[in-house]
Amino acid sequence: MTGKPLVAILSGAGVSTDSGIPDYRGPNGLWRRDPEAEKLVTYEYYMGDPEIRRRSWRMRRDTAALHAEPNAAHRAVAELERRGVPVRVITQNVDGLHQRAGISARKVLELHGSARAHVCTGCGARGPMEDALARIDAGEDDPPCLECGGILKPATVMFGEHLDPVVLGEAVAVSKACQVFVAVGTSLQVEPAAGLAGVAVDHGARLVVVNAEPTPYDDLAAEVVREPIGTALPELLRGLG
Ligand SMILES: [Zn+2]
Repeated sequence: MTGKPLVAILSGAGVSTDSGIPDYRGPNGLWRRDPEAEKLVTYEYYMGDPEIRRRSWRMRRDTAALHAEPNAAHRAVAELERRGVPVRVITQNVDGLHQRAGISARKVLELHGSARAHVCTGCGARGPMEDALARIDAGEDDPPCLECGGILKPATVMFGEHLDPVVLGEAVAVSKACQVFVAVGTSLQVEPAAGLAGVAVDHGARLVVVNAEPTPYDDLAAEVVREPIGTALPELLRGLG
């Protein structure tokens, strides 16, 4: 391997809390604590019940995630690319804030998809979330696909859906290839994302954990940082590359 070492960043919900986005889908996230809310993002219920879909679209329209702004942690990660440091981001977040902070979209692997797009469950047609929400605002409460009439859903991986095998395969490849693996804002309790930290260590990477709470991988880490992400991550990343 030649050139600068590859830095992999695994980012979880904690990276976006400073942007006002709560932890929805983590083990202790909002959805897991509210069975009725969890149904809105569970594939079986969503596909089987038009009323669940209507509530799900209203929930999308009324949450602030689409209007959230990147914070210091997102900007620090994007800054790595600007400095010429080889970097790939593997994120459990669906908010698109890494890309909005300026990092190239091709550098970001979204394990759980994107809340900024919608997708047809019939034909796979995709479009911006704004287009679907504009139809909600215009009075369609469960808008069908304009191509095939199929059921539309957010382009996020719902509970009960598989992760995109291509995205996951790339994430594993990055974890094997990187020299530094920074797990930030993630409890490292949800597979397969958590296991990527182990893959990285097994292949010789230096693991750094930045998280307020202990994680199952802290003992494998070369460095564990408990300070707030918004200040700790920029400082940590300035020292890389
Ligand atoms: Zn379709």
